[in-house]
Amino acid sequence: MPIEPDRQWKMLIDGSWVTTSSTYEIIDPNTTKVVGHAPEATVADAEAAAAAARKALPAWRDSSVGERCALLGKLADLLEGRVGDWVDVVQAETGATINITETLQVGGPTVDRFRYYSTPRDVDVPIAPFSSAATTLGPAGLIGAMALRQPVGVVACITPYNFPLTNVAGKIAPALAMGNTCVIKPAPQDPLGILLLGEAITEAGFPPGVVNIITGSGPEAPATLVDSKDVNMISFTGSTPIGAKIYENGAKTMKRLLMELGGKGALIMTDDADVGQATGAIASVWGFHSGQICTAPTRVLCHRSLYDQTVEGLTAVAEMLKVGDALERDTLVGPVITEMHRDKVEAFIQSGVDDGATLLAGGQRPDLPGYLIAPTLLADCTPDMHVVREEAFGPVVVVLPFDEDDEAVALANDSDYGLFSYVYSGNTSRAYKIAQQLESGNVALNSVQPHMEAPFGGFKMSGIGRDRGVWGLEAYSEVQAISWLA
Ligand code: NAD
Repeated sequence: MPIEPDRQWKMLIDGSWVTTSSTYEIIDPNTTKVVGHAPEATVADAEAAAAAARKALPAWRDSSVGERCALLGKLADLLEGRVGDWVDVVQAETGATINITETLQVGGPTVDRFRYYSTPRDVDVPIAPFSSAATTLGPAGLIGAMALRQPVGVVACITPYNFPLTNVAGKIAPALAMGNTCVIKPAPQDPLGILLLGEAITEAGFPPGVVNIITGSGPEAPATLVDSKDVNMISFTGSTPIGAKIYENGAKTMKRLLMELGGKGALIMTDDADVGQATGAIASVWGFHSGQICTAPTRVLCHRSLYDQTVEGLTAVAEMLKVGDALERDTLVGPVITEMHRDKVEAFIQSGVDDGATLLAGGQRPDLPGYLIAPTLLADCTPDMHVVREEAFGPVVVVLPFDEDDEAVALANDSDYGLFSYVYSGNTSRAYKIAQQLESGNVALNSVQPHMEAPFGGFKMSGIGRDRGVWGLEAYSEVQAISWLA
């Protein structure tokens, strides 16, 4: 589908496509040109979307799981046939390289998430009978019980810019399967693909109001959803400071929360690690959507005996990766999302240099169009540095040496974050032992590939709750106990 900068995009509320009195520009990070104008939702629009989801809830909640899953399956089929049409729009608004756009922005994972939740799964738990003595409440006897999973209600899904479709699919697929209704508020920078998804949702036959989509550039519309009494749960993926704000504001209405927040992934290389394998994994920080990945292994903790070899290898790789036009097939490092974000990452790198880190690669703005940042490597870092403690959400790797495994564990855990960590070791038993000591929701051994059906989420400031696989169904449900006299 060719990009039409003048197209009038509309929001989906209660099954209708609605216009707004004002719009804002969507900028292509690769060309820095305007590629669209997205609707600017008002507070009233956010309230209308929440009210529509509330109105649609009883019928959707009472539909059978088979009916809901069938619609999710139909949506997966529709998307499979359509994703090719969306590449141009999604590439232009995200600035992702064409390869990443085709395979990961509009391809596989988005469809996979709808497909996974299109299979009904039993998440209810029978409980062994309880032998009750005679009490003032009744005679002696066996009490039977079930722990049932009931939908939470209306779920507001507030998502970040890095993988708009995958992030939204990962929320609404399990939420809808469980019988919840949704309001989606995608990130301001790249909401157009989500509006296309709304067209497919309508075409698949989801009833009006079951999925609503509002877009906007500011915090007012999503903050309205957080305050709304019509909304039972906020499923948020984004930065830790905004997550904390939602946590605080959601308390007034006792919101259920799923929080997928920031990360500063540690990658530990023990003295027997395969340096080549680990180097390839670390380079994914640069080559995978320019480091705009919450789970990226950006904080390398390297055994001192491998330090020089690792740092030399990483410097060589950083200099080899092609930085530039996201539309050229051999480009590995495309732009970051906005000019403001590029400036922020550049300031982040400069703070590392000012604090005494050694800049071995990057640090110069590429003299090319687009919000580009060259793959950056900061060595000789120390645990107190800002670049070691905070996430850049850009193509920046920091390296620190260690001598003993215990020291590596302590360094890895010396972080406010705890989302995804990695252990590279020639001995998987040793790696497994280290993994168990890490304060991290996920740990991968000798790999940076996640298991997409394993529980996902963070310790500490990286979030609250887990999703993916059956944990996704649990995340979007309340536990209800029903008991009876057997
Ligand atoms: P962000 O926090 O700036 O924005 C996320 C969303 O929050 C947007 O939709 C935005 O409109 C909304 N928002 C802004 N103010 C709000 C308010 N007051 N109330 C409610 N919602 C509000 O995040 P971003 O820059 O889009 O994404 C980058 C961040 O997301 C990084 O910190 C990254 O680590 C994190 N992230 C985490 C995961 C994960 O799974 N843990 C995945 C992807 C990204």
